[in-house]
Amino acid sequence: MRGDTDPAGVAHDTPARTRRIERVRFELRRREVRVERVQRLSPGFIGVTFADESLHDFTSLSFDDHVKFMFQDARGEWVRRDYTPLRHDAVRGELTIEFALHAQGPASDWARQAAVGQTAAIGGPRGSMSVPADYDWHLLAGDASALPAIERRLAELASGARAIVLVEVADAADCRHLGTAADAQVQWVHGREHWLRALHDLRLPAGEGFAWCAGEARTMREARELLTGHHGQPRERLKVAAYWKQGAADFHERLED
Ligand SMILES: Cc1cc2nc3c(=O)[nH]c(=O)nc-3n(C[C@H](O)[C@H](O)[C@H](O)COP(=O)(O)OP(=O)(O)OC[C@H]3O[C@@H](n4cnc5c(N)ncnc54)[C@H](O)[C@@H]3O)c2cc1C
Repeated sequence: MRGDTDPAGVAHDTPARTRRIERVRFELRRREVRVERVQRLSPGFIGVTFADESLHDFTSLSFDDHVKFMFQDARGEWVRRDYTPLRHDAVRGELTIEFALHAQGPASDWARQAAVGQTAAIGGPRGSMSVPADYDWHLLAGDASALPAIERRLAELASGARAIVLVEVADAADCRHLGTAADAQVQWVHGREHWLRALHDLRLPAGEGFAWCAGEARTMREARELLTGHHGQPRERLKVAAYWKQGAADFHERLED
């Protein structure tokens, strides 16, 4: 049901529109790409734009998609990590990924040294989960690893959409303007405990909203509990994903229950 408010400020339930999460599978493709541009965005982020003829027909339908970013390490072994396809330019055959830098990890270290002309490979996306854009509100919350997906979603949302955004970054200099036509309320916090407290304290609007969260595994477990328990968010309008796990390499998990 959808909650509306009358002129006296009293909430009423009105029938919900039919909204469906759509899942699409794609044939898995590997594309050999070269680094076209490197952008040092802020202390914690590097944007890398890859180019190749094969990227003209690259398809990514949802902000929640991921590709396998693959590169060779110093021993010539292939390393594979999941990243959000942030921006795709079909005409130029370009794809941009934003790397959140952290203390140590092959992909983060690769981004630090990325230079024009280097080669890498992109696999996928294997599929997409499309979340309708016409929910009454959208919660987009996560840490630095989720910021590219959040940024992409905000860029896609149209005027009239309502977004509540909560992002945790390490450094105040990593807070940035997030372009969107939507009515977005953006909150930046530093530290996992502050992020969880801010998530707890959010006043989610009335109506039918979709909550999307991604970040570190343990934090995301707590986030899911807060959303389903404290906020009463229904499971069918919730996606919480662990994009990485403290102490583990190459970790990805969708948190269901
Ligand atoms: C669907 C999906 C989409 C993603 N999109 C993006 C994206 O667009 N941009 C992005 O930056 N990341 C994104 N990530 C997260 C990224 O895949 C992981 O952070 C990945 O583990 C980084 O690889 P690495 O080789 O640098 O470190 P790993 O070898 O995987 O890990 C090495 C060590 O670093 C720690 N670590 C890993 N990631 C982080 C982190 N983000 N912060 C702090 N410590 C970390 C690990 O706990 C481990 O101890 C995404 C993950 C998923 C599952």
